Amino acid sequence: MKKINWADLSFGYCKTDYNVRCTYKNGTWGEIELHTDENINIHMAATCLHYGQEAFEGLKAFRGKDGKIRAFRMDENAKRLQSSCRGVMMPEFPLDKFTEAMVMLIKKNEHFVPPYESGASLYIRPLLIGTGAQVGVKPTNEYLFVAFAMPVGSYFKNGFQTSPFVIMREYDRAAPLGTGTYKIGGNYAASLVAGERAHDMGYSAVFYLDAKEKKYIDECGAANFFGIKNNTYITPKSSSILPSITNKSLMVLAEDLGLKVEQRPIPVEELATFEEAGACGTAAVISPVQRIDDYDLKKSYIFSEDGKPGKISEKLYHKLRAIQYGEEPDVHNWTTIIE
Ligand SMILES: *Cc1c(COP(=O)(O)O)cnc(C)c1O
Repeated sequence: MKKINWADLSFGYCKTDYNVRCTYKNGTWGEIELHTDENINIHMAATCLHYGQEAFEGLKAFRGKDGKIRAFRMDENAKRLQSSCRGVMMPEFPLDKFTEAMVMLIKKNEHFVPPYESGASLYIRPLLIGTGAQVGVKPTNEYLFVAFAMPVGSYFKNGFQTSPFVIMREYDRAAPLGTGTYKIGGNYAASLVAGERAHDMGYSAVFYLDAKEKKYIDECGAANFFGIKNNTYITPKSSSILPSITNKSLMVLAEDLGLKVEQRPIPVEELATFEEAGACGTAAVISPVQRIDDYDLKKSYIFSEDGKPGKISEKLYHKLRAIQYGEEPDVHNWTTIIE
């Protein structure tokens, strides 16, 4: 094996030794199989290629201070994948098979789990696709579950830092009665144009408002949003956002820290009242918001004058990371030690 420079890792594809797979045929899921080939051979009429029968997940495993490997809340990813499957009419992948697949994948790629000191981790990408040949628009009857793993660097190379976001009303990510609550490729395809434009303008991501009224906050690119004010953690309630497991965890930790937690529609003007704001997801845990520029109304909501994250965001970030790296007791039972 080539030596990996853990400090230089970013977030990108990196070949590891094994991937795991499971196929659905004749109405049932088969056994989990271990593969070394990075390619999948599928029929050109597979429904994933034509009609977007595809869902994915993203989770991480960490090498702890004690040398043990911990996977973070994989039961939640398993449940969310089932929900996404229901959303695009694919057979649900059984929860116990998901766990079995993750454990096998992590163990087999154990030497790709970065050392504790590096601040890096092993990112796991499970996906489930329709593979049956089918040209009429309806669900197919053959599916493939695949999961691969890759070491990824710490999101914050120069320390925990803020970044800017932009509101652009000419793009929607997901419709209120559409597929925004599912983790599916289709939502990402729909967000690429806006995302690239935001990047070109120097922003981290697009800050989406609800598609129907453009009145309430939805998501920050592919991350959930939270704001902090008056010792309260406030996060949007919406029918077009993806339920983030990081956000769910931060809500619990916020309560542990003595904050109040509110999940409710957040009018965009309320941004002016937040003391801190952040985007949250598996990749960064928290990506603190420096400012949000409203491109259409030519105004800005500023949360950090000096580019430093707020105190509460910082506390929440370190608290969650401490649990993931086994530095603090896992009182909520969120991690699974892989042995
Ligand atoms: C994956 C994802 C998130 C973050 O979810 P986590 O479970 O915290 O990683 C947020 N929004 C969208 C659209 C996503 O796809």
